[in-house]
Amino acid sequence: MAAKSTTTIRQVLSYQPHQAAWFAATQTLFNRVCAFYFEVIQTHERVLDLSNKEALTALEKLTHATQNNPAPVMALQEVAQDIPAMFRRAAINAALGSARSFFSHLSTWRKRKEKALAKGKTFTERPPVPPRTWDKSVPFYVGQWRERTASSILLKIWTGTCWSWLKVRITGRELPTATELGSPSLIRRGKRWWLHTPIEKRFARPATIEQQVTTNPQTTICAVDLNLDDHLAVCTIQTVEGTILATRFIGHGREISGFRKKQLGRIARNRKQTGIIAENEQDNVDFWNKIKHGDEHIAHLISNRIVQFAQQHEATILVFEHLGNLKPTKGKYSKRGNEKRAYWMKGRIFAYAKYKAWNEQIITSRVNPRNTSRECARCHALVARYQEGQPAEGYTQGAPLVLCQRCGMQGHADRNASLVIGQRLITRYQQPSQGKPQAPLRAERVSKGTGVEVCQEAKSKEEPSSLQARHADRNEHGTAQDVLLGMEKHTSDIPCQLRLPGES
Ligand SMILES: [Zn+2]
Repeated sequence: MAAKSTTTIRQVLSYQPHQAAWFAATQTLFNRVCAFYFEVIQTHERVLDLSNKEALTALEKLTHATQNNPAPVMALQEVAQDIPAMFRRAAINAALGSARSFFSHLSTWRKRKEKALAKGKTFTERPPVPPRTWDKSVPFYVGQWRERTASSILLKIWTGTCWSWLKVRITGRELPTATELGSPSLIRRGKRWWLHTPIEKRFARPATIEQQVTTNPQTTICAVDLNLDDHLAVCTIQTVEGTILATRFIGHGREISGFRKKQLGRIARNRKQTGIIAENEQDNVDFWNKIKHGDEHIAHLISNRIVQFAQQHEATILVFEHLGNLKPTKGKYSKRGNEKRAYWMKGRIFAYAKYKAWNEQIITSRVNPRNTSRECARCHALVARYQEGQPAEGYTQGAPLVLCQRCGMQGHADRNASLVIGQRLITRYQQPSQGKPQAPLRAERVSKGTGVEVCQEAKSKEEPSSLQARHADRNEHGTAQDVLLGMEKHTSDIPCQLRLPGES
């Protein structure tokens, strides 16, 4: 069976300074049309009950004057004249995506409110607000671009006074052949304009995790433990039968967290000075952007390295632990904010790694996070976790070292956790009826004196949690749709892919 994935090719555009103003004018116009259609949808909410294709037709009927439809209810012409059909459709699809996201958030909020009120609780959560500003990139549907070569493209651009075909030079990564091209988008990054083109790749669907784990003991798994203190990600490679092949420590979490904390501290101070307390207020836009871009960048970097590492060792499965819930701790604003963003970043790294892995035909899954850091990867007894130079006892959260009193295993705490994560995925697919012990760790075989018996005992203790994990989520691999939905805004603008992700 065929599967597909989508990636984005990013290319730099060369243009004259005055042409940059045209790009900006085109984007401004696009967002004006988007905002208009969002309004139309708001006043005709039932449109959202339709499929995207039907909604598009309905919205055009409501807004677009034709011979048969001379007086539409809300004429687009009153907002913007001479809008090309494909430009209008791109804007309608963008508005539909935002509207679907907004109304689904709103309905979740209403349900939560109802539930709280029914229980006699007070409900203070604020309702989601529709977008106040629009900053969408312009996708160029077929008809809005032509004559694309490796080094140039013609784009239909709004100059501020008229529509005109503009030839722009393209540099950067060339488009691979034998792929399906989506609509290119004009993207502003800082002061430069880029052309982003989504491309689709088709490949044979990889075997499910269950098939791989149960039929081939050489199946190689890359397990990832995400942390936000020192090493952002610790990855281990192991086979289903338990041979550990490699380990990699990625990232400098402390530096990143320190950078973020500094920015958040500045925001807190600014807020104090200006008296702004509203958390949703877009104050200190600069700082937030800095942090946001920094985090985005890091999430991409880390996820790239994870997938590269998995590829190097020909892993076909990538496994993480579930994120669990964010438990807010008391403390300074900057500390809480930092934790929140760090939590968000873990989710980002997972999401990016998942779609990037899928592009390489690697399936991603998640396991139960319970006690992954407290369990010995070799014999599954509880470990002591401690700082270097401290006695090897107790459990110090976040400390780098572990020692297992039972089997003598000693090592890096995050590496141990990563091994446990990988093993959990394997046990999930092993037949519990066979009473088969957890795959023995061939490369780190237990020293004499601590036999298999101990391992089995420990295994049976672990049964409940691995059973829980079994039900947690089978085969959580990215489908093509997942991939698309998880991508950045612009990839959603492929005309045939009308389901749009929410507002970021
Ligand atoms: Zn042990």
